Amino acid sequence: RAKTGRIGHAVYDAALDSAQMLRLSMIGELRTAISGGQLRLHYQPVLSAQTGRPRHVEALVRWQHPEHGLVPPDRFIPLAEQSQLIGSLTLWVVNEAVRQSRAWALDGVGVGRIAVNLSAHCSQDSRADEAIRRRLVQHRDVLTVEITESALASEETRATLRELTAAGVSCAIDDFGTGYASLAHLRELPADQLKIDRTFVQHLDTQPRDEAIVRSVVDLARALDMGVVAEGVETLATADRLRDMGVGLAQGYLWSRPLPGDELAVWWVRQAGG
Ligand code: C2E
Ligand code: CA
Ligand code: CA
Ligand code: CA
Repeated sequence: RAKTGRIGHAVYDAALDSAQMLRLSMIGELRTAISGGQLRLHYQPVLSAQTGRPRHVEALVRWQHPEHGLVPPDRFIPLAEQSQLIGSLTLWVVNEAVRQSRAWALDGVGVGRIAVNLSAHCSQDSRADEAIRRRLVQHRDVLTVEITESALASEETRATLRELTAAGVSCAIDDFGTGYASLAHLRELPADQLKIDRTFVQHLDTQPRDEAIVRSVVDLARALDMGVVAEGVETLATADRLRDMGVGLAQGYLWSRPLPGDELAVWWVRQAGG
């Protein structure tokens, strides 16, 4: 290697340990997945906690891997965030959501807006990041965004959120309660919704402390003129509690798991009709 001095050889240097090799090959595979049509979006309905009527959907990405089958996002989003692929991945998500929204409209299915998840790390790749923001603003009538509370620790992410909301894009703060967002940040952030993390929601009906936390998030949101979404609702008892506490929107396996676009349309029509 020293003799030829070619950079390409360095990548395959025996000194690279196997963990690094695996990481590099996974990054390569993920790049292929993004450009080669292996990503899929599934959609989970978000309903009125008061009436049970479906209101909008959240888009959740999956990787249809040729050997491993459907890979969940927790297994590849972190890698995408560390390897600068998150920009092109997110741009794909945004474009696919716009395409799906049009397809539903053409089929006469009035599925509400589609919420897409944004990473803090999008801003690493400024070209993709700018394209993402442009698309989101252009399609603000059909798309909304979710940004995690922990991502908002970064000033860059807060600036993105301010820019998007100033341009009329509706934003939710995701996983609220887990990210230690300071109340000072919250005060200055123009988000529309607080999305309570499912760890506080799941055992609401049996854990008084969780109930106290959800109650205080509802109060906080009301004081800040924001809406509340409760995620991870799995039981009727939890849904009843949320309704009684005045939570606006809810989402969870109780109503539906995330579904492919065509199945979501069938679910939506049946739900809205019945
Ligand atoms: P998230 O944004 O908090 O999404 C909610 C997760 O909770 C989803 O997992 C959803 O399937 C799951 N879930 C929904 N209802 C229930 C329930 O009743 N019980 C339980 N136990 N789980 C429920 P999923 O689809 O595996 O996504 C995991 C995370 O991956 C997401 O968490 C989000 O942080 C990330 N993610 C997904 N899609 C994207 C994307 O397009 N871009 C980015 N940057 N991140 C994404
Ligand atoms: Ca989310
Ligand atoms: Ca969440
Ligand atoms: Ca989460």
